Amino acid sequence: MENTRCFANRFSDYKGALLPGRGAEAVVPAVVSAVDQILKRVPIDISDCDGGLYDGPAGVAYMLHHVSECPLFSERRDVYLRTAKQIIDVSVRYVDAEPDKNMRAAFLLGGAGIYAVAAMIYRSLGLADFVKPLTKFRNLWEVCAPISFLECGSDELFVGRAGYLCAALVLRQKLGIEILSKDQIKSICQAIIESGKQYARRKRKPFPLMYSYYGTEYLGAAHGLSSVLQMLLSYQDMLSGAEKDLVWQSVDFLMNQEQNCNWPAELGAIIERENELVHWCHGAPGVAYLFAKAYLINKKPQYLDTCIRSGELVWQKGLLKKGPGICHGVAGSAYVFLLLYRLTGNSKYIYRAQRFAEFVFTEEFKAGSHSVTSIYSLFEGLSGTVCFLVDLLQPDQSEFPLFSVFV
Ligand SMILES: [Zn+2]
Repeated sequence: MENTRCFANRFSDYKGALLPGRGAEAVVPAVVSAVDQILKRVPIDISDCDGGLYDGPAGVAYMLHHVSECPLFSERRDVYLRTAKQIIDVSVRYVDAEPDKNMRAAFLLGGAGIYAVAAMIYRSLGLADFVKPLTKFRNLWEVCAPISFLECGSDELFVGRAGYLCAALVLRQKLGIEILSKDQIKSICQAIIESGKQYARRKRKPFPLMYSYYGTEYLGAAHGLSSVLQMLLSYQDMLSGAEKDLVWQSVDFLMNQEQNCNWPAELGAIIERENELVHWCHGAPGVAYLFAKAYLINKKPQYLDTCIRSGELVWQKGLLKKGPGICHGVAGSAYVFLLLYRLTGNSKYIYRAQRFAEFVFTEEFKAGSHSVTSIYSLFEGLSGTVCFLVDLLQPDQSEFPLFSVFV
């Protein structure tokens, strides 16, 4: 039976040559025009700042910063950065006034992500003021370090501790300075591990670490186990031997939950082939980043093989009907190919990414896709697509936005 979540992939696969005419001459004007479209639609009023980096205006500021860092857009660098500053300044004011300190500590949906991106933009503009948002970001450590942090689930990527660690990782990569002290990082990692141990024990799980978010035991990148483990691996130097063992056991446990190259959205669910989720948020296209990180650390071929199988599934079922974005859209699928290119150096993956980029501009895609609420947004809309198109021009440096593996 046909999968209703995706378009059939009718492209022929790689036969040894990349697609011609997909260089900077063609892509730069397409990106510039997409950015213009986005800037026409992004709200600039403080009453419209909800959604954080995920689907608020702050995600557009991140995209502008990302484009401005690419030398192919050097002519527009200043304009893009100044626009990014205008947008992020409004979001910073909005989140400064947020009464809920837990929302201020959230990465993709709240303040931590906004402060992090503000610091990057200020730094790129050469403003010494970048220390202000950076200090606000650092102070959030106190909010998320206690084990009792969020009742709905303290450890996932969007609002929990994994998100705070992820933001600190991206900030260290972009600013080139230490963001948190070793003790601060250690205490957050310990809280994540203790919280996962307690949950697994309480629910009598047959494995060492597990988490839930609003009562659901997610496995994928969005709210699930995979991105929590990915962040613990990203800081594995800070873990004790016993903590590392727990994390690696959990990585292997998750690897064994694979069902035909994919992972169910939640623990123990059975995947129905005709209805499976192949999204960054739920499924192989997001879980792949954990196994990429595991492979980069210990070079075990089974982790790379797992990533490669994920990439095969994405080639089959990744032309998604939920828009062009990175969370559950075509650009999110295509980022897996850029990840695989960086892991293997195989040009086949550039070719596949080129095909997915091409598809976003087809009539078939426009006519057959569901409409997206915030078309300008980073995770569901065109800002994520723009990041992908820019990364496809410089695949050796490509990274899924705000989700670094190669650090
Ligand atoms: Zn999603």
